[in-house]
Amino acid sequence: MGINFSELELALARQIIATCRELERRGLNQGTAGNVSVRLGQGTDEGFLITPTAMPYDIMQPEDMARMRFDASSSGRHEPSSEWRFHLDIYRTRPDVGAIIHTHGGYSTTLACLRRPIPAFHYMIALFGGVDIRCCEYATYGTQELSNLVLKALEGRNAALMGGHGLVVLGPSLQRALALTVEAETLAMMYWRAAQMGQPRLLSEPEVARVREKFAAYGYGGAAKK
Ligand code: 13P
Ligand code: ZN
Repeated sequence: MGINFSELELALARQIIATCRELERRGLNQGTAGNVSVRLGQGTDEGFLITPTAMPYDIMQPEDMARMRFDASSSGRHEPSSEWRFHLDIYRTRPDVGAIIHTHGGYSTTLACLRRPIPAFHYMIALFGGVDIRCCEYATYGTQELSNLVLKALEGRNAALMGGHGLVVLGPSLQRALALTVEAETLAMMYWRAAQMGQPRLLSEPEVARVREKFAAYGYGGAAKK
């Protein structure tokens, strides 16, 4: 059964599609790989909109999105993404998260297949909450086991590699989650390259903490002139 979307929901559904197309344009997802969701109303229990399962991005329409409530019920004309469990568990446990992007990007997935976390080899790691982007063990896609592993790898972080699978990134908004996804994939690419040439040198924990403090004041979208 189709949903009668509100104007706000339709606007968010259009933003999801724009995000999916941008991920595809950047080569971070293709076909039906990956999925994207956005929370409906910060601090409410309204649930979230999520891409439908098994639908190629290039034919996706706003009305194809599935709506999920926190009791795990879903509505819409299609089944929600097979990964609705980890999207749901993240929104339930992390009130700061407004959007979630899951990709099978080339470099992050290469590292995930090696079960290699991304360490503090570059200061931009500080964008992701700590000294590394962890990598969880493999579990079958769409399972509660995978969701449990992903949530553990995300503790104190806003990105995690998924063993033998891909990457998940959390943001306060879709726009920010997309920017962070691009940064995480870039870090994975640079780490992979550096590791080809030797042992990348790592920044200390206090240095990463210092950069995180600077980032907190850095803002996003341009700093007003003092
Ligand atoms: P869905 O099409 O069900 O979202 O699955 C894609 C995927 O990446 C599973 O991990
Ligand atoms: Zn996937």
